[in-house]
Amino acid sequence: MATVTPAQPKSVQPETLRTLPSDTARQLQWGFADRFDLQMLMQSARAVARGPVARLVANGGRNSHEWTEAKAAMLEAFDESGITAVFMDPEDGGLFAGPKNLALALVAFELAWVDGGAATASLAGCLALAPIHERGTSEQQRRYNRLAAPAQPGEDRKPWRGAFCLTEPIPYVGVDTGMLNGKLRIVDWKPGEEPILQVEKRGRFITNIGFANFVTAAVDSGDERIKGSCIVILEEGDPGIFDRGTPTRKMVHQLSSTGDPIFNLRVPASRIVGGYDIKDGILIPRYSHSDVIEAVFRRTRVTVGVMTAAKLLSAVEPVIRYQRGRFRGAETATPGSVRYELGLQARQDALHRLVDVWATGEASASLAFAAARIFDELDPLEKEVEALCVERGVTGAKARTKLLREAGERAAELIQLPAGDPHREPMQSDLLLRFVALDSLADVLCPAAKLWNTGWGAQTMREAVSLMGGYGITEDCPGFLGNKWMDAQLEATYEGPEAVQRRQLSVTMTNPVLLVQFRQWVKEMRAIAVEHPGTGACALATAMTMWLWSLDHLQHHKDADGGKLYQSARQGVTFPLADALCWLLAARCQILDVLRLESQGAQDVSLAEGLPGLVNFLSDLCHVQSARAGGEVARICAELVFGYNRHPAWEGAPGCWHQDELDTLEGYIPGINSYALDVVQSNGAHPQKAGPCVQCHSEQAFLSLHAKLDGCLTGCRLAKDRAAEAISKVMIPEALDYPA
Ligand SMILES: Cc1cc2nc3c(=O)[nH]c(=O)nc-3n(C[C@H](O)[C@H](O)[C@H](O)COP(=O)(O)OP(=O)(O)OC[C@H]3O[C@@H](n4cnc5c(N)ncnc54)[C@H](O)[C@@H]3O)c2cc1C
Repeated sequence: MATVTPAQPKSVQPETLRTLPSDTARQLQWGFADRFDLQMLMQSARAVARGPVARLVANGGRNSHEWTEAKAAMLEAFDESGITAVFMDPEDGGLFAGPKNLALALVAFELAWVDGGAATASLAGCLALAPIHERGTSEQQRRYNRLAAPAQPGEDRKPWRGAFCLTEPIPYVGVDTGMLNGKLRIVDWKPGEEPILQVEKRGRFITNIGFANFVTAAVDSGDERIKGSCIVILEEGDPGIFDRGTPTRKMVHQLSSTGDPIFNLRVPASRIVGGYDIKDGILIPRYSHSDVIEAVFRRTRVTVGVMTAAKLLSAVEPVIRYQRGRFRGAETATPGSVRYELGLQARQDALHRLVDVWATGEASASLAFAAARIFDELDPLEKEVEALCVERGVTGAKARTKLLREAGERAAELIQLPAGDPHREPMQSDLLLRFVALDSLADVLCPAAKLWNTGWGAQTMREAVSLMGGYGITEDCPGFLGNKWMDAQLEATYEGPEAVQRRQLSVTMTNPVLLVQFRQWVKEMRAIAVEHPGTGACALATAMTMWLWSLDHLQHHKDADGGKLYQSARQGVTFPLADALCWLLAARCQILDVLRLESQGAQDVSLAEGLPGLVNFLSDLCHVQSARAGGEVARICAELVFGYNRHPAWEGAPGCWHQDELDTLEGYIPGINSYALDVVQSNGAHPQKAGPCVQCHSEQAFLSLHAKLDGCLTGCRLAKDRAAEAISKVMIPEALDYPA
């Protein structure tokens, strides 16, 4: 019999973490090492976050939900640092050309590192402009981008601020964005002239409303001469009512302004985002409000996911400092003693919990930045596809959907061909194929980043707060961790709460183009595991296989009453499966980022010395996270796969042995009595349990996978121990670089 040698004999002491990850390391991990412009932007955003924003929080800026001068000064700091200009192109006063998803994500990361409300105040301006950016006419884009850009040197004007107004007072728009009460009517339409519209809209919880100069508002037709819904642009000076309403009494994100506005304004029809056509005397907006918000949210939700990731990673340093210094000053904690040097870090649980917080932070940052990068890749392709449709005369949503469906079918076939097969070549050269493949990834990465980062992030943030003891829930807590915990819940709620993301995932995760790529990721993880067994990639591959098996099973099996399992109304099936997918996506992105750091970091002299230790530590975090992801997937899938079968009952007891049968057989097969389970006695008595044990014939493959996954967890706790030890030794700065 062959003996198996452990990959890492205990006596070998691997290099470990020396300092907290540097900016250079992060640039490699999150894929912007070649973007000097983004690196500079990140530094500018950090200076604002850890300077004026941190001081504002420390001075009690969050104690009021009113919009104050001090909060307004924060917006000016955004303007001066270039944060406001990130969204625009250079010709409109912006910083740089090209897609801005990663750039906005990095700004959000830096601001949310200190305060989520500050990040939201900045992002809400982009959200207001986003409908115009995604679907506006070129005139609309030029006008509002220029108005919203910070003043150039020598210009005497204040930049316009915007708000995005979709949500309405109950019982209208919330999660269900189709229930619009805001109305659009034609009040004046002279022959040959542009119609004049009356817009009535009430908003609920609208960010930036305390100071917005323009609003992009979702409204429905209230006039038989207007077809459908649209987004319309309102300006402060339009004739009528522009009432900002009362500020929302928020317990979170107090550095942003939120309120319930009321609008009743007269505007020209040219304010309809994307324009309109006139057909038989009917005004038809080119884009419905749903078309626009779909294009907007699929990008802006990524940045929200980034915000919660930043909170988790920002908690690491304050927690380490608190744990280490916990007993210093006590008579019994003399310098050199374990109590003095390690403090709470002498206790394994304190370290292990911090490992979990850190690992979650790494995974969520990797997931959200991967999504942002995908959108940067997708944006130009999307424009090319639009141009192609025009060139081919593909007009209308139906024709476009057909074109993309056919491309999807081809892409799914080609992706399955083995790497190197010459027939795969169109996957690189054919625009439509590249687009559908990438689009299918964006369709899951965005909702996954929003859902998992904010939802699980909020839970994990509670752990971070708990690690600071009572301090964690005071205003004095370094790193403002208590605030961040509450703020995370808002991030899980706005721009569509978890149900919205789960609903979207339950559709997009069954896209065959995605699934063929997902199957390849299983192989990719196994291949990674060969070279990097310490990352947990192999366990992740098994968990991915289990998820795929479960999806297929649930799509093709029925419940005990013959009801279809995988269907949109059955959120009890689709939603947990979406959650399980998120764990896998996050853990995969985390592993890939560490591998990029390892391969590219070796060429960077500034990293060289500490790199092996950093990579070992981050790999251990990957292992911890993969194991956790595997456990979550196994738990969720097992419940779904078995939970809809009805447990066999003793009544009738199909398939059970009866004692008199066994007694007869004993004469022919001596000993059979001792092998038989679930035996029913001649008086009907049976073992004291719910029923005969379940025969899982159609789930045997699942059980094998489950057993395999359990084995794949081998080593994950050793990785956690190593990571914990590394945290107890890592050097941190003397003090936090922003005030408490
Ligand atoms: C501070 C703050 C700032 C905001 N900023 C803006 C802004 O700038 N612009 C804007 O337009 N909006 C804004 N919002 C509104 C925000 O987007 C909504 O609150 C959010 O989308 C949820 O809507 P709701 O509050 O009506 O919740 P509801 O729709 O009432 O949902 C309540 C609960 O029911 C669940 N639920 C609802 N429908 C379903 C379903 N179909 N299936 C399963 N579960 C469901 C939800 O998941 C949630 O858990 C902001 C909100 C806050 C608190």
